Amino acid sequence: MKYTVLSRGDEKSNAIKETIVEHLAHFNFEYDDKEPALAISVGGDGTFLENFHTYVHRLDSTAFIGIHTGHLGFYADWVPEELEKLLLQIANKPYHIVEYPLLDISITHKDGRVDEHLALNECSVKTPDGSVVLDVSIKGEHFETFRGDGLVISTPSGSTAYNKALNGAIIHPSLASIQVTELASINNRVFRTIGSPLILPSHHPCTLRPTLDKSFLIAIDHMTENHSDIESITCSVAKQRVRFARFRPFPFWKRVHDSFIADKR
Ligand code: NAP
Ligand code: MN
Repeated sequence: MKYTVLSRGDEKSNAIKETIVEHLAHFNFEYDDKEPALAISVGGDGTFLENFHTYVHRLDSTAFIGIHTGHLGFYADWVPEELEKLLLQIANKPYHIVEYPLLDISITHKDGRVDEHLALNECSVKTPDGSVVLDVSIKGEHFETFRGDGLVISTPSGSTAYNKALNGAIIHPSLASIQVTELASINNRVFRTIGSPLILPSHHPCTLRPTLDKSFLIAIDHMTENHSDIESITCSVAKQRVRFARFRPFPFWKRVHDSFIADKR
């Protein structure tokens, strides 16, 4: 089987990457960072996000695993102490695949060009230039005009990241949905937004349309770009899904508990 390993680049993660490569050489594994069937990341959730975007063009053929060398992660949920057991299982067992929903972001530019992106955590829309003013429509119907710092649209597995800091709900990844949360909306007698996070099902896309000519900072997971020619941004549950190689059960709510309440078993 073809596999690859991405290290965060610190000493500990690099050493673990070396161990993995040495071990897997004894089995029938071939290191191939072009077309891996298995993409392993060593570091944190940030390292996992980077690996995800490296192979986002081949989600049908690449499954992901995350090993954490810092605190427990949501994607990086294996500890280095489990490494030997994990490697034996990778080598010997056909692994179980778990799939999570993704966010599809379709950016239409003023010249009609459309860019498609996938996010594992979220897409955020802000401006370096005062407040954003966005016409928000849901399933083609005008919903509100948002004025404020910006909007964040998250996946269920991204709901524990930026979304959580914005008081969004934590969504179980078995629910194919996206969540829209506000960044400091302006609410007074002139401007009015809903204020609550919205959870949308897969057949309800959400479109953001700027009403003022501004430049926008659009972040997709850990990557931010500045755009000055945005016609609209449409977010929806993606057709594609991310696939995780699972070797032992680690239920989502247990990961939430261990990350945010207490890491005691
Ligand atoms: P970062 O600044 O290192 O990430 C912020 C934190 O979010 C890190 O502790 C990261 O874990 C953690 N994280 C990433 N995905 C998560 C998830 N699905 N559930 C729970 N925690 C998660 O930058 P980064 O590592 O490149 O990650 C980019 C992400 O940062 C974005 O996708 C966004 O969700 C998040 N972010 C959060 C805030 C906020 O909470 N106010 C603001 C901006 C961005 P690791 O340390 O394991 O990498
Ligand atoms: Mn990080």
